[in-house]
Order: sequence, then C-alpha cells, then structure tokens
Amino acid sequence: MPETRRVVVIGGGIAGLASAYLARELAEERGIEIELTVLEAGPRHGGSTRTNLVEGYTCEWGPNGFLDNEPATLELVERIGITGELVKADKDSANRYIFHGGRMRAVPTKPMAFLLSDILPLHAKIRMAREFFIAAKQDESDETVDDFGRRRLGNTFAELMLDPMVSGIFAGNTKELSLAAVFPKMVEMEKEYGGLFKAMIAKQRVAKREGKTAGGPGGPNAVLHTFQAGMGRLTDRLAELLGETLKVNAQVQHVAQREHGRFQVVSEGATFEADAVVIAAPSHAAAKMIQGIDIGVSKALAAIPYAPVDVVCHGHPDSHLGHPLKGFGVLIPRSEGIRSIGCLWSDAIFPGQAAKGYRLLRTMMGGAHDPAIQSLSTDKLHLTASADHVRVMGVHGKPTMSWVSRFKRGIAQYTVGHMDRVKKSEQLENDLPGLYFAGASYRGVSINGCAKDAVRVSNLLVDRLTAMQRETSL
Ligand SMILES: Cc1cc2nc3c(=O)[nH]c(=O)nc-3n(C[C@H](O)[C@H](O)[C@H](O)COP(=O)(O)OP(=O)(O)OC[C@H]3O[C@@H](n4cnc5c(N)ncnc54)[C@H](O)[C@@H]3O)c2cc1C
Repeated sequence: MPETRRVVVIGGGIAGLASAYLARELAEERGIEIELTVLEAGPRHGGSTRTNLVEGYTCEWGPNGFLDNEPATLELVERIGITGELVKADKDSANRYIFHGGRMRAVPTKPMAFLLSDILPLHAKIRMAREFFIAAKQDESDETVDDFGRRRLGNTFAELMLDPMVSGIFAGNTKELSLAAVFPKMVEMEKEYGGLFKAMIAKQRVAKREGKTAGGPGGPNAVLHTFQAGMGRLTDRLAELLGETLKVNAQVQHVAQREHGRFQVVSEGATFEADAVVIAAPSHAAAKMIQGIDIGVSKALAAIPYAPVDVVCHGHPDSHLGHPLKGFGVLIPRSEGIRSIGCLWSDAIFPGQAAKGYRLLRTMMGGAHDPAIQSLSTDKLHLTASADHVRVMGVHGKPTMSWVSRFKRGIAQYTVGHMDRVKKSEQLENDLPGLYFAGASYRGVSINGCAKDAVRVSNLLVDRLTAMQRETSL
C-alpha cells in the first residue's frame, strides 16, 4: 500500500496557490496520494492578486492583467476552467503616452515612427540611430539596465524612456536593476543579432513572413488579459479548488530538516510534518524560515530588496477629463518633477472596469525612486495623485470614487547580482530535494513569471515524491 505523502505550500498568493493546485493534479496523474496543506499568513488568500469592486469600479490591488506572450498563465486558466471568463485588452490600449516637456505625447509603436517623432531631441535621436553600429558587448558580466541603455541608446533615451518604462513595470530604478535578470531578452538580442535594431529588423522580417506583428518601443507584442471579475478571479478560483487545504492566519515561523529527507513546518499554533515543502512566500519571509537550514542561502534571499508601491484608484465622470485618455496610460519621467510614476487608464484598457460615462484612473506611486511615499497619509496620497492628474492629464474636479492599495514591500527588485542569489536557492533545491522556492522573488515578477515557476516547482516536487515512493517500494 503506497504511503500518503504530505506536502506543505507556504504562501497563498498566485505562486503558492498555483504550485499547490498543479502539484496536487500532477500527483494524482502519477497515482501518488498526497495530503496537501497551504499556509497563508494573512486573513485571506490572493497575496497581491486581488480585486475589489468599489462603487461599480474594478479596483485591482496589484496586477491589472497578464500578457499572452507566455503560455503558463493561459494554460493554468484553462486547467481551472475559467478560460471563458477571460477579457482581452481593447485594441486602443496599444496607444501609450509619455509626459515630457509639460505635455502628454503619444509614443509611436514602430521604431522608425519613434525616431521621426518629437519625443526626443534631434541629438538623442541621432545617438539612438547609431545603436545599429555599436558593437555587441563581449564579456558576460552583469550590468545595470541604465548602463546598457546609455551604452547602446544614449543618455537621453536612458533617462527619458527607459527609466520611466522600468518604473512602470518594476517600480524599479534602472541604475540598480540587473539587465540579465529583468530583460534577459535584451541580452539575447545583443548577443545573437549584435544589437537591438538589428534584432528588431530580423524579428520583424520573420513576423511579416508569418503574418504577425513584432513589438516596438511603445510596448510588447502581446495582448494583456484579465477576467470579467478582475484579476482576483484567478486566485479566488484556485482557492475555491484548493478548498479546506488552504489555511489562513497561519504565518509560518520556520522550516526545519527532519530525518529521512523530511521537513517540519512550524506555523502560528500548529506544526506540520512534510515530505516536501514549497516556500512561495516572498524571499524576505523565506529567508527567516530557512535560517536553521542554510544561513548562506538565507542571507542571499534576505538581500533581495522589495520596492514599496501604492496604487491609487480614482473614479471620475467623463466631464472631468481634459483629454480623451484613449490608450494604456501615461508614464512620467523623474525629470518632470511629478511624484506619480504613471497612470493607467483602466477602463480604456478593459472597458467593463467603470460604468458608462465614468473613467477609472489607476496611479502608481512610490517605487525604488520614492520609498518616502510610504510616510504619506492616505488622504495626502489621494491629494498628491489628484494634483498630478491635473498637471499631466488635465483632469478637473474631485474624484467621485477614491480607493488605495498600499504595499510596503510591493515588487521584488532584481538588482545586479540577483541571478547569483537565485542560483544559491537553486543549489539548495538540488542539495535538499523536497524543499523548493517559488514566486515573484526569483525568476520573474509578473503573473506569468509566477505561473511558470509554479509549473517548475510542482514538477520538481512530484518527481521527488515519485522517487520517495520508488525507494519505499524497493
Ligand atoms: C502594485 C502592483 C502591480 C502589479 N502589476 C502587475 C501586472 O499588471 N501584471 C503582472 O503580471 N504582474 C504585476 N505585478 C506583479 C505580480 O502581481 C506579483 O509579483 C505576484 O502577484 C506575486 O505573487 P506571489 O505569489 O509570488 O507573491 P504574493 O502575491 O506576495 O503572495 C505571497 C503570499 O505569502 C504570504 N506570506 C508571507 N509570509 C508568510 C509566512 N511567513 N507564512 C505564510 N504565508 C506568508 C503573504 O501573506 C502573501 O499572501 C504587480 C505587483 C504589484 C504589487
């Protein structure tokens, strides 16, 4: 009679829920019986992936969607039976804006149109065009996103375009983030094709041959997706399927090694024995849990910084707007002296997210450039966002709906040296089969990154259980 294997997953965000669900499915497919427990520190599941409906507006705590250029999330969605609830971004959301020189300017999506536009001064455009002739970097050393941008595209592009774009995605600082960790494709493009323009031209040729379109400087060549009920539907559905295996208000204090390759997980009020453990809590929490297992890896995980992020949602009637705001949103370079990182026009991206005649503006604030944002009161935060809306988008009148989600530690920052820190955690996974690390702290901050990581750890975990099963049957 095969033994029932005990599995503990720590963290009830998208990474933990997806890892737990996929591990259970895979174990069942392999005929391995498991007793699964998912431990979440907070009073509810979801982590940063949650949705609140506020006065008819869809307000997202964290992610407002995921891109379809990576299959892991779409495949997960299909497995959990909610593909029919997916909503694609409106085609107008391909329009992206930048606030520069005191006004909003549309960012052309094609490289040539971008070079011909007035977004950058002539000298900066000439410098950008020279990218074609700049030799590829020869050594393999890691560099910051800023160093890469300045080296290949020039200082003005790095400051005016790259930094706000990176702030918009990672709430990060290009002078600290590792290019290899946050934009591995750029490293590949330079290595494989000799430069970015050369790579874009080659990719566009292939895309044309295949009847597709390739991405440009304005945005990715992918479509953003959400659900009719917002992104929280993804974590809600997973939690529903996991049922009673999911325990909330169960903060894990530490994980210890036991005999015969087993583990013990100590949480508030309960202790769990386990054959395998997935730590899908953020790296700073994981670091504390494994202090007794490997202090070196614990220190490496503790060194992964997180940037604070505040998301301010404001609802306005159409009449308050001085611009049609038809597009994805606007990014704001630091040099403009405006506190907001940027603003997403949520109902223009996903038209069901505000009632007809009303608009939903989602402003990102804080990030690695502005950690002091955390000391602002919520009232002051709303006033600051409103003042920025007047200057950037010509919005007038008080918002009729105001809501905010605040993250002291919002988005993991993959700073230079990140890949070495991740390698240390992978080495421990190798040395200590049965202990795995998953989630946004490691191999990708996006929902797609987390879904892909959930596939990775669930496979490793079930392989481990299969091996244990084989050992005991010998
Ligand atoms: C404001 C914002 C906007 C974003 N926008 C996008 C976007 O548009 N698209 C996109 O793809 N990505 C986006 N992201 C990134 C993405 O949402 C996150 O990286 C991802 O949701 C993280 O998932 P996770 O499961 O790794 O971590 P989390 O969601 O942080 O979940 C970790 C869970 O672990 C729990 N935990 C912590 N410590 C313990 C402990 N000791 N014991 C038990 N449980 C513990 C926490 O309570 C939490 O619930 C955004 C993130 C933020 C913050």
